[in-house]
Amino acid sequence: MALRLDGKALSTQLEQRLGNLIAGHLDRVERPPGLALLRVGDDPASGVYVANKEKACARVGVLSTGIHLSAGCSSDDVLHELQRFNTDPLVDGILLQLPLPNGLDEGPLLTAIDPDKDADGLHTLNLGRLLKGEPGPRSCTPAGVMALLRSNGFDPAGKRAVVVGRSILVGQPMALMLQSAHATVSVAHSRTRDLAALTRQAEILVVAAGRPGMIGAEHVSPGAVVVDVGIHRKPEGGLCGDVRADEVSEIAAALSPVPGGVGPMTVTMLLVNTVLAWCRRHGIDHGLDDLIS
Ligand code: NDP
Repeated sequence: MALRLDGKALSTQLEQRLGNLIAGHLDRVERPPGLALLRVGDDPASGVYVANKEKACARVGVLSTGIHLSAGCSSDDVLHELQRFNTDPLVDGILLQLPLPNGLDEGPLLTAIDPDKDADGLHTLNLGRLLKGEPGPRSCTPAGVMALLRSNGFDPAGKRAVVVGRSILVGQPMALMLQSAHATVSVAHSRTRDLAALTRQAEILVVAAGRPGMIGAEHVSPGAVVVDVGIHRKPEGGLCGDVRADEVSEIAAALSPVPGGVGPMTVTMLLVNTVLAWCRRHGIDHGLDDLIS
């Protein structure tokens, strides 16, 4: 039976570390780290995600400020809020919750965020910093996957890694992070021929295709470490991932569950990016280097 890559337990530990770090410096800094959360429209899933992020902030002592704009607002309305947060000295991190309603183009809005306050690590400059191995906020989901691998003793160095999916949100930065950790990386996408032949070569397999249950026993070699990024609501209720966990857990050395795997780590890395920005602004020695890929 595969080892469970428990993102919930790791995120609880990391929250404790962040909470202690903040508490240890509040006397001198005199203000907590601040995260601004901007939500546009009424996508119900986004509402749940933002609420979870606000709760996580409260647990570690990050002050969250939520703004909710209506679906009919203009790009200028969103820009106005982002610029207000960019110049607010009490805000260290800014998150624009995706997806945006139809008619709003996320590209220019994400780029309007001050790159040093980019809590999601999706600004063009920060993706470039990742590519060049320069410091900066990292994309939360792949950074969470790296932390999950490392904390369970799976060092990617020298390993053959396959990432299924090439989105800017997950697949591409995931491949870059694995590569900079010295894995030999292949990236699969919807035009990949014979996906199973490729994924069977993986010692580390990260699946972020957004296709419920697409990866099964035939895609995985014995002893592989499998991380399931996908998250889907099942028609009958409950959640599932891109991996058929019942089959793969019989073969893999380790598997991340859905829920309780990558999801909580994504939220925790949002906090990490915010706390790191606060530390940098106040010259605090953060001791979080193990979380910066
Ligand atoms: P996207 O839809 O943006 O990207 C999906 C990628 O998978 C694309 O590159 C696509 O290829 C590829 N793909 C689709 N079908 C196949 C296939 N049959 N074979 C191989 N590759 C395929 O999704 P995201 O990257 O945004 O998200 C992926 C999943 O991760 C979703 O389920 C999402 O909900 C989840 N997610 C979970 C998070 C968490 O915190 N747990 C955070 C972010 C996302 P192509 O480029 O050719 O179209």
